[in-house]
Formats: sequence, C-alpha cells, structure tokens
Amino acid sequence: MMPDTRLAPPPAALRLAIDRDALRGNWRELKRLSGAASAGAAVKANGYGLGARGIVPELLQAGCRDFFVAHAGEAASLLDLIDPAALSVLHGPVSDADAQWLKAVGVKPVINSLVQARRWHDVGGGRCDLMVDTGINRLGLPMTELGDEAVSSLEVDVLLSHLAAAEEESPLNALQLGRWREARAVVPHRRASLANSAGIALGAEYHGDLTRPGLALYGGIPCEALRGVIRQVVRPQAAIMQVREIGPGEAVGYNATYVAQQPMRVGTIALGYADGYLRCWSGKGLLRAGGSVLPVLGRVSMDMTVIDLGNAPDLKEGDWVEAGYHLPDAAIASGLSQYELLTLLGARFQR
Ligand SMILES: *Cc1c(COP(=O)(O)O)cnc(C)c1O
Repeated sequence: MMPDTRLAPPPAALRLAIDRDALRGNWRELKRLSGAASAGAAVKANGYGLGARGIVPELLQAGCRDFFVAHAGEAASLLDLIDPAALSVLHGPVSDADAQWLKAVGVKPVINSLVQARRWHDVGGGRCDLMVDTGINRLGLPMTELGDEAVSSLEVDVLLSHLAAAEEESPLNALQLGRWREARAVVPHRRASLANSAGIALGAEYHGDLTRPGLALYGGIPCEALRGVIRQVVRPQAAIMQVREIGPGEAVGYNATYVAQQPMRVGTIALGYADGYLRCWSGKGLLRAGGSVLPVLGRVSMDMTVIDLGNAPDLKEGDWVEAGYHLPDAAIASGLSQYELLTLLGARFQR
C-alpha cells in the first residue's frame, strides 16, 4: 500500500521555544541604542539557527527594513518575505552565476573586491553595497583600492565595514573607525554602516546611518553595556521519552562515564549532539522543569541525553524539560561562543 503523504507528521519531542516578544523587543532596544541611525538585522545562517523564515516577519513587524545574509542561496529562501532591494548578500557575487542571479532578482550584492566590482559591472551593475576592509583582513575591499575606477563607478547604497573586536576595549576600534571615515570621504554612497551588535554599544561615532545587529537580537550579550537590555529569546525543550530507576554501581550512557552512588530515578530526553547539544555538555549541562534543576548524567549521545530526575520526583514520560540556554552563562559553562550556541541548533527542533 502507498503511504498517505498528505498525513501531517506528529509533533516532535524536541522544540525550540522562541520568545517573539523578546526578539522584537531586542530589535527595538538596539534601534534605540543606535540613536539617529536605523537598525537592520543580520539573518544569515538561517537567522542564527532560529529559523530565518520565522523571525523575519517579527523583525519586519518591529520596524526593521534592512536585512543581511551571507550566501545568495540564503537570500533566495527569503524573497517572498523581504523586498529584494532591502536584502544584502554579504559574500557578494562569488561567481559570475551569483552576479547574474543577484541582478536578475534585484537582491543587493555586497561588493568585496575589485574582481567582484567588475563582475557586477559585467552583468549590468546597478544598486549594490560595498564592504571596505578597515582592519579585520577577512573579506572586503582593501583601503588602497578605494580610488579604483571600478569602485567609483559603482552605485553604492550602503558603504560597510566590519569591526574585528567591537566587544573588547581594543585599539582596533578607533583605528577601524578612522579608516571607515576615510573610505566614506572617498567613495560616493547613500548610507554608511559599521556597527554589529557590540559596535552599537561603542557609541554614536560608530553608528553612521545604519547598524547591523545579529547576535544581540537573538539574546546574545557580547558586552557589559548590553546586559540588562537584551532578553533571552531561545529555549531548547525536549520531552522525556523514558524513565528508569537505577541502583548503586550502575552506569549511564556510552563508556559508562557516570556511575550511580545510590538509587536514582533518571530520564532519557530526545536531545542530542546531532541537535547541537554537543558532547561538551556531558556530565555538565543542566536542564530544568519548573524550579527543579536536572543535571546531565554521563555522555550526551547523538539523539538523546540522560538526566537526573532526583529533584523532580513527579516528572514522568511525556513531560517537557528545558536546557539552560541563557547565552552568556551557557557560553561560559560549555566553552562554546554564544554565536556557536545559536547556529548549532539543529534541523530536528520544531521551531
Ligand atoms: C554577522 C555580521 C553582522 C552581525 O554581527 P553580530 O556580532 O552578530 O551582531 C554584522 N555585519 C556583518 C558584515 C556580519 O557578517
């Protein structure tokens, strides 16, 4: 018999609770801190793992008008949600095929080199953004090439640069600010942009006409100035699939890294390293249900993790628990960056 493909699958035992109110609130706060500049949003990497198609409508509703993705393919998946002219592809036209596609759909390339500038001219040119490298030495036009005819003939909407150490008190910040100002004086453009999330907190000099927060929209706190302003957005939650009682001397999980010292009640949840809950949480992660703390026991497996139910004797199969995921704290506990904690979150979460 053929399977009925119209039948909707049952809900997953794994979900990513996204606080849409907090997301919109974070954008508004970052807009407020951007002063006279408007605030855009970096929604690359599937909206930092949250699901770009789910968050873009929230950001639009909050008032966001400028969006940044890394790859052309990421722009393609958002074309029905965002005006193509308000969508910038940070990697720019990496190939001739990229340039042709960007031109055809009207999405703005961020031009990062003379090669990319010529590629854009070759397909007919038109409105684009320009990234100038002021000291990160990653992607962007070198300062020495600002005067090139291929650059001065571009129709630049946003002149961008990107800070290498905005979350630190680094001499690089002032150095990059100075070079960005030089670039603004040389290259004709409509708007200028320098600050990522942490850059916004560096003050008005760094704001230009448009800021480009990413991390902080999603609850990341890159610097002290944003603490108390930014709210948590993402909460990974998983259902308990099985509960068991184990006795002293019994081991839990791969390689028996946890051994019970007394009788225990433990639960297995549908969350593993394939979901982005990496093995660094083994024997270290904390889940919660109500006010109870439920430590991870032994190794995190690919699709599941075992937790101690000792603090919550009423929990049973089918009940939901939540992983501690306040990003600044989770970063310290796991050794991962707040960016990694977000972008790791896997495809199996119901978002
Ligand atoms: C990712 C990115 C941002 C956002 O940075 P956050 O640190 O996440 O706020 C801004 N600008 C560029 C060019 C980026 O690549």
